[in-house]
Amino acid sequence: MHRKHRKNEDPFTCVMEMIRRTGEILEFDKRFPGAKMVERIAISDKIIRFKSIIPRDDGGVGVFQCYRVQQSDTLGPYKGGTRLHPSVNMDEVKALATLMTLKTSLVDVPFGGGKGGICVDPKGLSVMELERLIRRYVNQIKDDLGPDEDIPAPDVNSGPREMAWIYDEYRNYSESARGVVTGKPLELGGSLGRLQATGYGVALITERFCYGNKLVNPAISIEGFGNVGQFAAMKLSEMGFRVIAVSDSGGCVVNQTGLNITRLLAYKREKGQVADFPDAKPLGNILEAPMDIHIPCALGHSINGENVDQLGSNLKLIVEGANSPVSSQAEKILEGKGVTLVPDILANAGGVIVSYYEWVQNREGLYWSEDEVLGRMNGKMIAAYDRVVNYAEEKKLFLRQAAYCLSMEKIARAINYRGSQ
Ligand code: NAP
Repeated sequence: MHRKHRKNEDPFTCVMEMIRRTGEILEFDKRFPGAKMVERIAISDKIIRFKSIIPRDDGGVGVFQCYRVQQSDTLGPYKGGTRLHPSVNMDEVKALATLMTLKTSLVDVPFGGGKGGICVDPKGLSVMELERLIRRYVNQIKDDLGPDEDIPAPDVNSGPREMAWIYDEYRNYSESARGVVTGKPLELGGSLGRLQATGYGVALITERFCYGNKLVNPAISIEGFGNVGQFAAMKLSEMGFRVIAVSDSGGCVVNQTGLNITRLLAYKREKGQVADFPDAKPLGNILEAPMDIHIPCALGHSINGENVDQLGSNLKLIVEGANSPVSSQAEKILEGKGVTLVPDILANAGGVIVSYYEWVQNREGLYWSEDEVLGRMNGKMIAAYDRVVNYAEEKKLFLRQAAYCLSMEKIARAINYRGSQ
């Protein structure tokens, strides 16, 4: 998905604008005179931008633009995923890193925020080439990483396999390496429940909303059928919800009575796509599915000013499984129509919560059961959701604005305690 953003409509500009507006609502200038609180939250601590060169299998070389943004360590070590995608660019990584800072603060995880990315189409590399690229990437930023410095994790097109390579490469330079990366395979110190965490958290928040708003038997559509989309679909289906439409980069399928998610997962594993799944009809555009709830779990701004009107009039709720899937312009239009948006920094926080538990288990050398991990995660997610909903009601704010207020208030207080020197 290579989307050209309208001027002032790219994810980075949207996040910065939200931070500025939140600073005004929280009256930072009045409460912390001269402290430049908005700038101190918005401007990243350190931006690492470099190229990685690797030998290709055919004897040539591959040259790749790479990034690691260390956005803020006010509340703890930098923390955030590593995205592998041809659309990765500096502003996108900065936006994603900033969302991590806001997310960890909001859900009470003692981490700061960061993000990495490589501008690459991993489907165009052999496994050996991809491993070489990940190792080279780690080698070039090894001095900036560390269990108490900066801790990468999975993101689009990276999962346990890539995290294992990050761990193994970093281990060449440091003994105390287990907690340097999360989302690892279990055999290398990964946590039970990490793979499912983000999707399960998305499902939990969806269920909580439906319960609180007496939404019965809603039709749900899910854009993106990777880590987040698959586990969200699986959990929602286990909870008894009707997932009627699912898409991936190759197409979209719909079945109004509800897709059989177990069979769709097996089909996707076998064929690598959802298109042509039996017992479903093809649909050109998932936004046109007759859904009550839409859960975007793919890339940024998949819902934007140009396509937001394609969403059907039944739509009541968007749960942001992905980061920044709704542009500000689309958001204003949806708010005007009375659609509720559960923002990314709340809805998809399950992943970073369980990453934190993985890091804790690595430090303790004591490993927890899946029930314990996911039980703790559920508790944190529900507590954060309830805090945001209550604050929004009390202050008469939309959920994203409420989430930014709670998150930035905590960061600002921490900055203030730490002083200005
Ligand atoms: P992933 O496993 O790589 O899955 C991405 C999915 O998006 C794939 O199914 C991909 O299709 C699909 N996709 C790409 N372009 C699309 C398009 N134009 N239309 C429909 N689907 C499209 O990535 P992920 O880890 O699930 O991450 C998804 C989102 O969640 C990202 O925004 C990420 O930042 C966010 N997130 C992830 C985590 C986590 O723990 N993984 C945590 C928090 C937030 P194919 O299957 O055809 O490639």
